[in-house]
Amino acid sequence: MSEPKKIPEPPVTLPCEICRDLLPLVQDGVASPESEAAVRAHLQHCEACRALWPEAGENPAPAPLPDDEKVVRKLRDRVNGWLLTFIACGLIWGMASSRLQFLNGLLFVLIFPFVSGFTYWMGGRVWRAIPPLAAVLWAVFNLVDTRRYFVPEPSGTIAWIVSALAGAAVVAALCLIGALAAALLKYAFGGKTK
Ligand SMILES: [Zn+2]
Repeated sequence: MSEPKKIPEPPVTLPCEICRDLLPLVQDGVASPESEAAVRAHLQHCEACRALWPEAGENPAPAPLPDDEKVVRKLRDRVNGWLLTFIACGLIWGMASSRLQFLNGLLFVLIFPFVSGFTYWMGGRVWRAIPPLAAVLWAVFNLVDTRRYFVPEPSGTIAWIVSALAGAAVVAALCLIGALAAALLKYAFGGKTK
């Protein structure tokens, strides 16, 4: 929970001398975000310093204020929670569809790439968890589900394990293909989303 007493504020009361010392660094884009926020805050209130950098008001770079960061983080958390739900539903659906009738069974070939591709598009690095996760899920699901199809003998057991592992590898590959396709699409559409 947040403490109402402790609200971090950017240092607004920057002395003019320090502001002018930092100004070249900010103009060159090498100042720390804190310094830049302080300088910009000072410029808003100090005409004498603003006269040294008239363009400052024209291209207000997004000063990383604590409140903005908090909002962004909250938004990201919400997107991640939503995305994780999507991933869970997608993987379960993919597993389930692989066990249905033939046509439905083919759906998983589309579902797994779609889940990882969409996650790559939306969530950045979260997608990396999907291929191994899907592979493990697939292996476990198949080891449990298909046991009855194999003869309970050593050769049958090996075939049973091999088929589950091969399926898991295929699923992981499908997920990678989906992420790769999303990466290509993202690249093709330029750096609109960072
Ligand atoms: Zn000043």
